[in-house]
Parts: sequence; structure tokens; C-alpha cells
Amino acid sequence: MSGILERIEQQLETIGRDGRLRRLPAIDNGKDKYLQIGEQRLLNLASNDYLGLSSSPLLAAAAHDAINEYGASSGASRLVTGNNRLYQELEHELASFKAQPAALVFNSGYTANLCLLASLADRHTLVFSDRLNHASIIDGISLSGAKHVRYRHNDMAHLATLLTKHKDHPHKLIITDSVFSMDGDLADLPSLVQLKHDFNCLLVIDEAHATGIFGHGRGLAHEFGVEQEIDLHMGTFSKALGSFGGYVGGSRLLIDYLINTGRALIYTTGLPPATVASNLAAIRLLQQNPDQGQPLLTMARNLVRHLQDLGIDTGPTESHIIPIIIGDNERTLQVQQQLHDMGIHVGAIRPSTVPTGTARLRLALRADLTLGEFELLTTQLSEVLCR
Ligand code: PMP
Repeated sequence: MSGILERIEQQLETIGRDGRLRRLPAIDNGKDKYLQIGEQRLLNLASNDYLGLSSSPLLAAAAHDAINEYGASSGASRLVTGNNRLYQELEHELASFKAQPAALVFNSGYTANLCLLASLADRHTLVFSDRLNHASIIDGISLSGAKHVRYRHNDMAHLATLLTKHKDHPHKLIITDSVFSMDGDLADLPSLVQLKHDFNCLLVIDEAHATGIFGHGRGLAHEFGVEQEIDLHMGTFSKALGSFGGYVGGSRLLIDYLINTGRALIYTTGLPPATVASNLAAIRLLQQNPDQGQPLLTMARNLVRHLQDLGIDTGPTESHIIPIIIGDNERTLQVQQQLHDMGIHVGAIRPSTVPTGTARLRLALRADLTLGEFELLTTQLSEVLCR
């Protein structure tokens, strides 16, 4: 047997033994509030469709219209013939939504992070990155060839120490999630802005989980009022915006540079027009009703307070993403199953996605829960978690 196949078999065996084997679940309508899995109807607290926008008839209508007008595919990369009018409208409105001079849309949030890091950083660059940053950031840093300097999660004193150590290095970039995807806590953007100025760095933030929720839907940078101090704002349409694709907002200089050097933009076919159209519809919806995230955050705060009163470890969350940290992988799967049996679907997140010993359930609250559903959820969670 080939050495590669032998290694693969061994690795899968180890993953299975550690209780970390992943299987693709067969779930129809994975974004809806209720999932139908076999005979069971389950409340869906695992999707990132935080505002329920993916079910909006406006997004669907925009996509239908675009298919009718442009067909199913953009046909080529954006720099060839794939750059239809919808892209220009979307980037124009997105830039204004984010209060940035320019914006650029990518085929996913993952691709956006890969692309921006591989373009802005090279082997002469130091990238200072929060230890709990998303995998796409870590992969982007690897691809860039830059030196990866990890700082302890949200530890500004540690970051300052590392920056001081490298203060004379001319090419420094700091990158952070704004809302952390597995812990739901918030980056200290004002301190990061201060450090960026003190040490003359570029500052890039990933607003994947903040967009639609914080800062009148515009993201955490707007919530803190520091949006003009951040060099590049990355985000995704695939979470609260209910659609698909990634984006960055920033100066014309940076956007032009990405258009000219971003291999993940240049060498890939543009998004289907239907997707670009539903992205545009989502941005317009958010602009019309920018505070849809507020009731969601209030609901999250109430649930966290309740769980903490019961002695349950919800980590440092300050958002609609609520981790229930259990620790042991097997126990986490058991509790997930118990909730499943009660009609609640939550994600079980295990190492290597989170650090060893911090396996957890990840509750992604959604704005379309009724008061009755929220109260039932609170009761059911208390029952299962206090067993
Ligand atoms: N950044 C963060 C913080 C994310 O959580 C995700 C998605 N899990 C991404 C980037 C990637 O976005 P997308 O799903 O659009 O590829």
C-alpha cells in the first residue's frame, strides 16, 4: 500500500479513537429555524443565519431576477468577463454601508482572508494574530509566507510586548476577528487601534460574526466608533446577511492593490449573478432596518445570565454566540444528543477547532425566535445541563 494511504488510514483511526471523527450530516433546509431530520423537527441553533435573512422573499426575488437576466453563471473571472453590473452596485453600496472609500467582493469569506493576507503580507512581514483567530486567517498567514506572531487571546499587554520587541521592523500587520467565532467575545478594537498607531502597523479586522448585529449592522468597528482607524474591514455575506460570499472594505489604494495582486480574485470565476443580487438585497434590507441585531443581543444576554446563575460555563461571550463549555469530547457529544432528543439542534465543537479540553456546544441564537420558543429553550437547556 502506498505510504500516503497508510498514513491516511492511521490518521483517520486516531481521529476516530479520540472521538473527533467528522461526518457530513444529511440535513435539508439547514438554515431554517426548524430542521427536519428524519421524523424529528429540531430548533436550529447551529446555523449562522442569525437574522433569518436567508429566508427573506426579497433575497430570493433578487436572485430569481438575476438568474432570469444573466443566467446561472458569471462565465469567467471578474477581470475577464465575469464582472456584471450587479457587482459594481454591490461594491458601491457596501463601501458606503461600511463608510469606506472602496469595497471588493470575493467568492467567500475564507477566500477573502486568504487573498488579503497573501497579498498584503510576504516573507518580510510580521503578522500579529490573536491565538483564537479563525482558521481562514491562519491559513492566509501560512500562504503569505509571513512570520506568524501569535498573541494570547485578547491580551493587549502581550501584544504590546511583542510589538515592542519588533518595534523597528518596517512591515507589521495586526489581524483579529472582531467577534470570536467559537467564544462569542469581542476584540478590544480601541486598544488595537491605539497599538496600530503606536507601532505603525496595518490593522485588519474580520467582521464575519459582527456584521448585521453590532454597530447598526455595520460591524463592531462602528459600534466602537473606530471604523475610520482600521485599514481593512473583512466580512462575509454568508452569516447574518443570509447569502454567500466575502468582502473587504478599505482605501482605494488597498482595494486596487488586491485587484492587481489577489490571486484568489484573479484566478477564479466570479460569483453567480443570483448570489451577487441576493447579497445586494441583504445589504439594502440591513440599511432599511439596521438594528435587527439589538433584540438578539438582549436575548443572548438574558440567556447567558440565566445559564451562569446555574453555574454553567459560558466562557467570555458578549454576543449572540454562546459557548457552553463542557471540556470532554464524549460528554459534549452526549449532551448534544440529549438536546437533540428534546428537539434542539446545536453544534458540538471539538478540538482541533477549539483548544484541547474545551469541547463545547456552540449556541448561535437567532433573532426570529419567539418569546415562547426562547422560554422553552431556556427551560430545556437548564434541564439537560443540570442533570
Ligand atoms: N471568518 C470567520 C471569523 C468565520 O467564522 C468564517 C466562517 N466560519 C469565515 C471567516 C469564512 O467565511 P465564509 O463562510 O464566507 O467562507
